[in-house]
Amino acid sequence: VADSSALPDAAPELAVSGSTASPLASEVERRRTFAIISHPDAGKTTLTEKLLLFGGAINLAGEVKAKKNRRDTRSDWMSIERERGISVVTSVMTFDYRDRVFNLLDTPGHEDFSEDTYRTLTAVDSAVMVIDAAKGIEARTRKLFEVCRLRDIPIVTFINKMDRESRDPFEILDEIEKTLALDTTPMTWPIGRGRDFVGTFDIERGGVRLLDAKDDSGPPVPMEMSEIAALNATLDADAIAAEMELVTEACPRFDLAAFLEGHLTPVYFGSALKNFGVRDLLDGLHRFAPPPRAQNSDAGPIDAADPRMSAFVFKIQANMDPNHRDRIAFARLCSGKLTRGMKAKLVRTGKPVTLSTPHFFFAQDRSLADEAFAGDVVGIPNHGTLRIGDTLTEGRDITFVGVPSFAPEILRRVRLSDAMKAKKLKQALQELAEEGVVQVFRPTDGSPALVGVVGPLQLDVLKARLAAEYGLPVEFEPAEFQLARWISSDDKTAFESFVAANRSGIAEDLDGDLVYLARNEFYLGYTRERAPGIAFTDVKETQ
Ligand code: GDP
Repeated sequence: VADSSALPDAAPELAVSGSTASPLASEVERRRTFAIISHPDAGKTTLTEKLLLFGGAINLAGEVKAKKNRRDTRSDWMSIERERGISVVTSVMTFDYRDRVFNLLDTPGHEDFSEDTYRTLTAVDSAVMVIDAAKGIEARTRKLFEVCRLRDIPIVTFINKMDRESRDPFEILDEIEKTLALDTTPMTWPIGRGRDFVGTFDIERGGVRLLDAKDDSGPPVPMEMSEIAALNATLDADAIAAEMELVTEACPRFDLAAFLEGHLTPVYFGSALKNFGVRDLLDGLHRFAPPPRAQNSDAGPIDAADPRMSAFVFKIQANMDPNHRDRIAFARLCSGKLTRGMKAKLVRTGKPVTLSTPHFFFAQDRSLADEAFAGDVVGIPNHGTLRIGDTLTEGRDITFVGVPSFAPEILRRVRLSDAMKAKKLKQALQELAEEGVVQVFRPTDGSPALVGVVGPLQLDVLKARLAAEYGLPVEFEPAEFQLARWISSDDKTAFESFVAANRSGIAEDLDGDLVYLARNEFYLGYTRERAPGIAFTDVKETQ
């Protein structure tokens, strides 16, 4: 039995600030945990590969995709991903770059799986925003940016595909500033456009990087304007000089504090496909991306350098390895150090959990994690003990807040051809709901449960997994309800009478929280108007 009283709740803060040189603090200090946000096709996968390549985590670019495909062929339900050419899974890739440990959290590209992406963004300290130079800010980039903004996550921008016809760089910066209300500081600047793109200026250090240079590991190379213009017949020395003057005069200088507060983004131009600008980006992350931030809990912010281990689960993934039929909970360490074999307290149940096989994930591999530090993400194999939003601690009763669930866009009833298997279906839906594959709402009047998803592809995944893993062939039927909203009220009596008056439209979610089910927007609006003391929300955060 774990001794969950070993560390009293009211233990004085043994805060170790980044400046003290304790081994724990310096390990935490060198973690950089980030994600890439972008619109599909902007180049996230290509950039991920190149970051891993430059970080030495893979030998050959292309491995990330190769791995994806291999995994697909081994696992049935992921064939949905293969058929539709989308990435359903979220995973983490760890690599070293110089003296830092980078944890890159991958996010699904398809918006039907955006819930996964939003949860993953609760586990990062910074993000790289990849923009297609020909397209500028696209819908999904904006949406994901807004999610980052809610948490003031600092953003580093990479303008990709500079080797192709692109929009004017000033125009792109202007669009970032106007549509995202985010200041920009170009760190590099493209020389030539489209097919005549030859390289970038390094604005801060001076000097030039050339697209066809063999080695970009050293500092940028000093070059005269006339030398640059001679690289390509379309380039004009005076015009380039004038543009560079404008860039240096018109663009604000980089301001670290504004970046860390999420108000300003450093911008790098490059081509992931041609390995160009990737090292500058990585160097930028190395220099500016913040170490693990304090994470909010119901007991206030928990400092990353607090020596007592704490972590929260932001993602559950099944079938990573079909040979083991395992279920992996991805947990972000928020403070302290995790050691293999340690007993942690699962705060939701109060029960101890032995962390006997925590794993690190790399581009091509996974390995046992003997120790991990705040900022790291470990995969914890389990058989359903851990759920999304769970907090693990070394004994303290704190719960991390802010891991979101979203009201479903689609509600369905599950029709089972074999009624004898109803109990098995109930169990299967419970497990898949705990994994975040689907939401399950059980009406309090005893009528059959409804499943809710954000996007239709999730229903395909649900159906495929029920068939493959549980032997349950199912169909989905439209439900009489279209909308679900979580309800709450400060007024207990008003809440109880609302619930009693609307019994046929009240259901419980996985955690036992109540939702109001509405036939459509009209009914929802009508009910809302008549129940002013009741709050209806479409996002629920762990609290
Ligand atoms: P994702 O959907 O954001 O992951 O995008 P991918 O990395 O899969 O890239 C989408 C397409 O754009 C692929 O065909 C890539 O080869 C191509 N691509 C990515 N980066 C570049 C680039 O820098 N230049 C050019 N020309 N094509 C690129």
